[in-house]
Amino acid sequence: MSRRKIIAGNWKMNMTPSEAVALINTLKPLVATEHADVVFCVPAIDIIPAVEAAKGSNIKIGAQNMYFEEKGAFTGETAPSMLTDAGVTYVIIGHSERREYFGETDEIVNKKVLKAFEHNITPIVCCGETLTQREQGVTIDFVRQQIKIAFLNVTEEQVAKAVIAYEPIWAIGTGKVATTAQAQEVCAAIRDCIAEIYDEVTAEAVRIQYGGSVTAATAAELFSQKDIDGGLVGGASLKPDFGQIVNYDTFKVVDYQ
Ligand code: PEP
Repeated sequence: MSRRKIIAGNWKMNMTPSEAVALINTLKPLVATEHADVVFCVPAIDIIPAVEAAKGSNIKIGAQNMYFEEKGAFTGETAPSMLTDAGVTYVIIGHSERREYFGETDEIVNKKVLKAFEHNITPIVCCGETLTQREQGVTIDFVRQQIKIAFLNVTEEQVAKAVIAYEPIWAIGTGKVATTAQAQEVCAAIRDCIAEIYDEVTAEAVRIQYGGSVTAATAAELFSQKDIDGGLVGGASLKPDFGQIVNYDTFKVVDYQ
């Protein structure tokens, strides 16, 4: 089965609303492609102007977080219906920065994933190990546990539409990209885990991204692996390089040596 690639930018806490509009206008022609879904996950306050700026292009706007309740006394949080009403179609859930700085557990991730599906928002569910876990040889056990809890009570029709981002924590924002073999190994293990919980057909449908210091120079090799269906890109998504990452299949890095 051939899965459509999906390349998402995670802007993190960068770009004011007016900067967001300017960046989208700059990147719009660079990220035009028919070969992949392109998503910009922007700060909550940028969503409305970003949706407006992206109109008429292939860019979909995603959120970086969402709360798991419908509405009420949850100061500072964003409800799923607020996102859909604003035009959001994707949401990053369980990014390692949210797990580390905002105490998000696998159980919270699961509640958010269930809520996102309820509102027809595609979750980009993040998982990935620390450097210590990799060095101790427990990467796959750890990631399997994250996946099993994140998708508890999620139906097979829902999971088939999910996006999973494998992001080794030691590779996020560090410039240390995982080797292609390391990234492929874990993405394949995630697909096997989905096949165990659900079935092979469902596992073949799920799109699995790699994330962690992806650049224009590394994207093509990573994204052409059997189980890697695109990327979640932080730093490089704020630069024109993102156009080269999205068009990894046609963009060539010239080696002048
Ligand atoms: C991320 O924020 O999900 C990420 C992968 O960041 P970076 O590409 O900067 O490592």
